[in-house]
Amino acid sequence: MADFNELGLSAPLLKGIEKLGFETPTPVQEKVIPHLLNSERSLVALAQTGTGKTAAFGLPLLELLDKEQKRKPQALVLCPTRELCMQIAGDLKDFAKYLDKVNILAVYGGAPIVNQMRELERGVNIIIATPGRMNDLLRRHKADLSEVKRVVLDEADEMLNMGFKEELDAILENVPATATTLLFSATMPRAVISIAKNYMHNPEEITIGKRNVGAENVSHEYCVVQARDRYKALKRIADFYPDMYGLIFCRTRVETQDVANRLMQDGYNAEAIHGDLSQAQRDRVMDKFRSRKLHMLVATDVAARGVDVSDLTHVINYQLPDDGEVYTHRSGRTGRAGRSGIAISIIHMKEQYRIRQLEKKVNKPFTRRMIPTGREVCEAQLFSMINRVKQVEVDHKLIDGYLPAIFETLDGMSHEDLVKHFVSLEFNRFLDYYRDAPDLNIVADDKKKEKFSKDMTCIYINVGKIDDLTAKELMQMLNEITESQINIGLIEIGKTFTLVDIDPKQVKNVLARLNDSLFVGDREVVARVDREKPKFRQGGSGGRGNFRPGGNRKRPNFNRNRKPNKYHQ
Ligand code: AMP
Repeated sequence: MADFNELGLSAPLLKGIEKLGFETPTPVQEKVIPHLLNSERSLVALAQTGTGKTAAFGLPLLELLDKEQKRKPQALVLCPTRELCMQIAGDLKDFAKYLDKVNILAVYGGAPIVNQMRELERGVNIIIATPGRMNDLLRRHKADLSEVKRVVLDEADEMLNMGFKEELDAILENVPATATTLLFSATMPRAVISIAKNYMHNPEEITIGKRNVGAENVSHEYCVVQARDRYKALKRIADFYPDMYGLIFCRTRVETQDVANRLMQDGYNAEAIHGDLSQAQRDRVMDKFRSRKLHMLVATDVAARGVDVSDLTHVINYQLPDDGEVYTHRSGRTGRAGRSGIAISIIHMKEQYRIRQLEKKVNKPFTRRMIPTGREVCEAQLFSMINRVKQVEVDHKLIDGYLPAIFETLDGMSHEDLVKHFVSLEFNRFLDYYRDAPDLNIVADDKKKEKFSKDMTCIYINVGKIDDLTAKELMQMLNEITESQINIGLIEIGKTFTLVDIDPKQVKNVLARLNDSLFVGDREVVARVDREKPKFRQGGSGGRGNFRPGGNRKRPNFNRNRKPNKYHQ
């Protein structure tokens, strides 16, 4: 692995990045920085968001500035949104902290153009701009790009998605043909290739990671619920991850606002961001989210493009996007900067085929996960609280004065009673809410069984509801007996048998394990590939589980607490 000192950067810039805590260059930096410092050849870099692109182009832009030429801009960075524009300008200013004065100007719509014109008049070294405003300034003859030596097109695919093609063309016509162009894009659709062809002469191409591949650290999951249970499913997921710091994607502005309103009414730390909000409102929400005062941001795709947070734990697709490309962008918002992230899609049955398409798109398997049961949610919350209790720093200065009175009030309570009371105080409401919470997972629907996927293999298993089998337990069992993550599609639990779609590659292993003297309750399991799917009795296979935490329901003979050898008798 290279060292920043070996990349050819000067001492003030090295000091700047050291101050930011960057220790080793990311792969994109390792490739792009030496290239830019040593060559004038244009470059097309296929790189995901969050890979350290800004420093990869920003440090060389700063390094290569001609100190004598102070008035006219020498470098132009174009990016899709105002937020990204401010972010890049802020990053460059941080990198340049120990350089002699460098003027970096962000120009974007929604801010007074006169101020930007005044700054340009005074002299600017590097412009960071959104295409619309840059073009506006050019039309008014307020920006002179005749001395620009390097142009960066950041998130080129996003700029084209947002309809900036004509603006980009107009701007690039104003840049000298000799300028080096650097194009960064997470994906390489035809429109981006044509920009590269038109404005770049024989560019070098580099790929960080694979083409169109979802970010490495993101695990892709989905859950299948009735369309009407979408919101409840979202709440369960949010409750199951008490430390969630996530983006929730909806398709329309109205739905975005509606979901955010419902979350807020239900006491969640959530807000919406979408195009119907004023710029000031969007800025306020983004500030809150960035500083983690807000834990969940419900967003439309367009508004989310400005979200520049790199440590999101979750991306939730409340609705799948129509376009696979958009899915890649959404999921790439998590799993950044070396952290892991989870992208969860809440879908209904008819959308299952979309998951197969998306698997091909991101070239990674998706895992079907079950919506947590009420009991699991309560457990997750409880243990999160207990951990917080354990980890909280006690500030003696603040509380010591109150302690004698507190001890006096609690005098006589045992340690055990104290714990019970504190937990109950925090949790009664939660436990109450989830006491009779239904299973939201779709496990069967006799009218829709033709939806079993053509890409999956349907397995018939001779156990069902009379053996107290639930979909969740079936999934756990399959994962446990095979000691792997089984890719499962639709599950249909009948009275005496079960049909489950699984990945064809895993069929052999699954059948071998299922047929290896495994018992569910008192019944020995027999499983086979289902050639003739048995007809379900009318109305006889409703899939809503009736598991109640702490209830008396008889549990099947496998569950997480049992060791695998207990299944084998
Ligand atoms: P970017 O792709 O430029 O938006 O960067 C994603 C995140 O990674 C930002 O928070 C950067 O501050 C951070 N970052 C970039 N380069 C490095 C590095 N070499 N070491 C550590 N963090 C970095």
